[in-house]
Amino acid sequence: MQKVFSSRRDFLRTAGLGIAYTMVPQFLTCSKSIRKEKLPNIIIIFCDDLGYGDLGIYGHPTIKTPNLDRMALEGQKWTNFYVAASVCTPSRAGILTGRLPIRSGMCSSKRRVLFPDSAGGLPESEITLAEVLKTKGYKTACIGKWHLGHLPRYLPTKNGFDYYFGIPYSNDMDDVSKLPWKQKFWNPKTEYWNVPLMQNEKVIERPAEQTSLTKRYTDETIKFIKNNKNNPFFIYLAHTMPHVPLFASKNFQNRSLRGLYGDVVEEIDWNVGRILRTLNDLKLSSNTLVIFTSDNGPWWLTYKELGGSAGLLRGGKGSTWEGGMREPAIFWWPGHIKKGTITDIGSTMDIFTTICKLTGAKIPDDRIIDGVDLRPVLFGTGPSPRKTIFYYRGTKLYAVRKGSYKAHFFTEPGYGKNRKVKKHNPPLLFNLEQDPSERFDISKEHPEIIADILETCLLYTSPSPRDLSTSRMPSSA
Ligand code: MG
Repeated sequence: MQKVFSSRRDFLRTAGLGIAYTMVPQFLTCSKSIRKEKLPNIIIIFCDDLGYGDLGIYGHPTIKTPNLDRMALEGQKWTNFYVAASVCTPSRAGILTGRLPIRSGMCSSKRRVLFPDSAGGLPESEITLAEVLKTKGYKTACIGKWHLGHLPRYLPTKNGFDYYFGIPYSNDMDDVSKLPWKQKFWNPKTEYWNVPLMQNEKVIERPAEQTSLTKRYTDETIKFIKNNKNNPFFIYLAHTMPHVPLFASKNFQNRSLRGLYGDVVEEIDWNVGRILRTLNDLKLSSNTLVIFTSDNGPWWLTYKELGGSAGLLRGGKGSTWEGGMREPAIFWWPGHIKKGTITDIGSTMDIFTTICKLTGAKIPDDRIIDGVDLRPVLFGTGPSPRKTIFYYRGTKLYAVRKGSYKAHFFTEPGYGKNRKVKKHNPPLLFNLEQDPSERFDISKEHPEIIADILETCLLYTSPSPRDLSTSRMPSSA
């Protein structure tokens, strides 16, 4: 019979967090090498609003990303990898809990993300990847943008992270400039946004000096790696960039042919190189899984050239077209991962399940976990178990992918005033393998595929009622 945990605390107690703490020192002294081999270090580098087409290895003609390109060539480059939502807050809830945001309540059709006046955050009952890894004795750090609740009870330090350094929400919030929109974003200055920079639970700088954030986040990451090189560690490095307003440090300004957006991405790339070099120098690379991806698609629909590119994919941030939710995704773990380009389907939610399986951490069994185990693909032993993607906008299901086919029940522009929701009956249908740009609707030719997708939806939308919560993101404080 399934064990039902009444709270996150019960789960942690049952999974042996207390035992892990008391046993680790003895275990380390008697069997350090075995322990190191069995428990890989994990680093997730999660960009903000980076598009599918913004890296050299994903086809961008002028943005130079030699470090990420090499990382992909030494590991796996995924071409059908998705996030849990097309905007920041729900996407972050998805990657950290392995669950669709509709289950944790971290989504809303009114205000789509948390704001500085929001009173909500990730519910205490949710179990994060950091909390799961704490049960295995990991040292954990969240470095960068959090965006799952800025009030003390919701901060990373209350969600399984030993250390936090970063901004609690987006870098375009706390706008104090009163300048016209065009002027402030096209010629941004740090003082226009009064965003706090936090260390653990204290504000250490306000406004956060944004030109040096990418570098400082990386400095903190490297420091954490060095300080914990003898323990298994988990670092969730959620870069603030390339979310607007765009900021690059002096060394990267005016460097890229792509303009400021290119400068910002090239600085991220350079700093990824610093992390991989550190792992190599410390001889940790063969025991460290590094994953690079982004929280949602590019914001070009609103910010034009200040936003990124979804490449050949349609749409961008905020929409349920492919450009809003399909992301570059690179997995790197020299000597373990089978190198190559992967066309199987994966999701950020699968990172949760895969890491639990890799580390032997217990997957919570009192709730629905939407992630699947991607180890067969990573190690080249089999296909991805994931066959479906559910595209939510807020609390509403807009589209479903099953295998090669995607049906849109509703479409809506990502952003913009006077945008309208379009209902499609029959749903629009695209073959994403043959038509990744979603240009040619084949619904009339294939009613049987639509019927099959609808049947999958019916099965999916009948979980236990307690697990499909309503939104817990209040519209204001
Ligand atoms: Mg984002």
